[in-house]
Amino acid sequence: MITVQEALDIIEENTCLLPSITIPITQALGYVTASNSKAPISMPPFRQSSMDGYALKLSTTDTYAVLGEVQAGSTQTIALQEGEAVRIFTGAPVPETADTVVMQEHTTVDEDTITLTKRPEIHSNVRPLGEQLKEGEIALSKGTLLNAAGLGFLAGLGIAEVSVYQKPRVSILLTGDELQQPGTPLRYGQVYDSNSVTLKGALDTMGISKINIDYVPDNYQATLDCIKEHLANADVVLISGGISVGDYDFVKEALIENGVTEHFYKVNQKPGKPLWFGKKGATTVFALPGNPASSLTCFYVYVLPALRKMMGYNNTHLQKNTAHITLDFTNRFGKTLFLKGTVTDGQATPLLGQASSMLKSFALSNALLVIPETVGEIKKGETISYLDLNG
Ligand code: AMP
Ligand code: MG
Repeated sequence: MITVQEALDIIEENTCLLPSITIPITQALGYVTASNSKAPISMPPFRQSSMDGYALKLSTTDTYAVLGEVQAGSTQTIALQEGEAVRIFTGAPVPETADTVVMQEHTTVDEDTITLTKRPEIHSNVRPLGEQLKEGEIALSKGTLLNAAGLGFLAGLGIAEVSVYQKPRVSILLTGDELQQPGTPLRYGQVYDSNSVTLKGALDTMGISKINIDYVPDNYQATLDCIKEHLANADVVLISGGISVGDYDFVKEALIENGVTEHFYKVNQKPGKPLWFGKKGATTVFALPGNPASSLTCFYVYVLPALRKMMGYNNTHLQKNTAHITLDFTNRFGKTLFLKGTVTDGQATPLLGQASSMLKSFALSNALLVIPETVGEIKKGETISYLDLNG
């Protein structure tokens, strides 16, 4: 059995970036840029007023004759002489001959003349051409995760398309003859399938939308066929359950028979020990334990970083921070523990209900508290590491 770190290293070594594609920025939310985007124009593209007021060439006088007005979007050019001003509005181009915009609140108006009631600093309220960015400079560098602001920023530069790394196509295969769908009555011995919903939710949160969900009966041939089909159509295949040592656990055998190379099986951790990782060509396979909390723990610790790496993220792992544990804790397992817990104001509290079948504590957690396999006793107040589930 390998350690958590060994498992992470093996996954890292065997995970590659997906190819890049060029897509409209309106579809690029949550993608990572695959090249530097150069600014095709300066921003702002002209000297721009940042206030409603009057543009003028500041001189010793406090009184200016108002020649006309410049609205946002105006293309006219007005030449100002000493002692002259134009009415101007936010976002409008400041005439070449003006050096300052006076806020209208700092003037009094008498017909076509204004008087300054407070003298401005020269150049105030004028955004210089290219203040934010000059034409040809890098707007967003390669490796930037595109959020709403990033997309808007590119749009503001007139950029309509962007080169990004593809997001993976993910198949989720659910094994288990006992599984029933929520919304239908539960017969004796059945359990509702929660892993499909959990895993899809975790993928949705990452902005991954090409998700195929399929159900596999606990039967070798069906498992073989289903895996074969999905290997051909996915970048990542996630299999839930059927990877332990029970008589009806056919996943490992079916993966090998399908030509998937095993890179590891079983990690010295709790929950999530029977994790299997393998590759067939460019396709990555994670066989996750069926217990709901084990499956999701393995997703956050191993699957999420692999997906992020494929998508071009710089920081692939959930953020690891430290906090003080709020109670004494004993690790009697000699395994790395991932405890569902909360971290608030630097205080980490493991929640009740740590069994691998229990999701309630996970639903209320914002962190996985990490207790290394080498640590036995932890005293209240000691520093521990945790993975930020929102990071
Ligand atoms: P397995 O890994 O197939 O041995 O399953 C371990 C445990 O997880 C069993 O109690 C299963 O009933 C349960 N389980 C497996 N798949 C799911 C699922 N999709 N949703 C909820 N529980 C599951
Ligand atoms: Mg099973």
